[in-house]
Amino acid sequence: MKRQEEMKRKEELKRQEEMKRKEELKKQEELKKQEEMKRQEEMKRKEDLKRQEELKKQEEEEESEDTISYYYECYHEGIKFQDEKSYVTHFKSEHPNDYPFYCNICHKGFYSYMAIDNHCRSKGH
Ligand SMILES: [Zn+2]
Ligand SMILES: [Zn+2]
Repeated sequence: MKRQEEMKRKEELKRQEEMKRKEELKKQEELKKQEEMKRQEEMKRKEDLKRQEELKKQEEEEESEDTISYYYECYHEGIKFQDEKSYVTHFKSEHPNDYPFYCNICHKGFYSYMAIDNHCRSKGH
């Protein structure tokens, strides 16, 4: 009788240990899963960041292309100017006998793009 009880107790203990072991395993698997998820999220985050940076770079490149295409070029020596004011200043000091802008139709000279615009509008061309 006593032996039987002992055996029963041992079995109970074994069962509990087995359950504990299984729970431990389950916990470990869950931890692993969580880590894997974390890793994937981290990777996704990094990819997103990379994509955003690339997009930003593309936008910046597009912007710089815009500014580069927007210049005034002296037709005497090919010097480029970012704005009209420095272009006209250059013309007045380096080429005082020439105008920075000429009307394409009647070839009249002007000192500003606005003036040539007004001229063409008033002349109707
Ligand atoms: Zn020049
Ligand atoms: Zn004209």
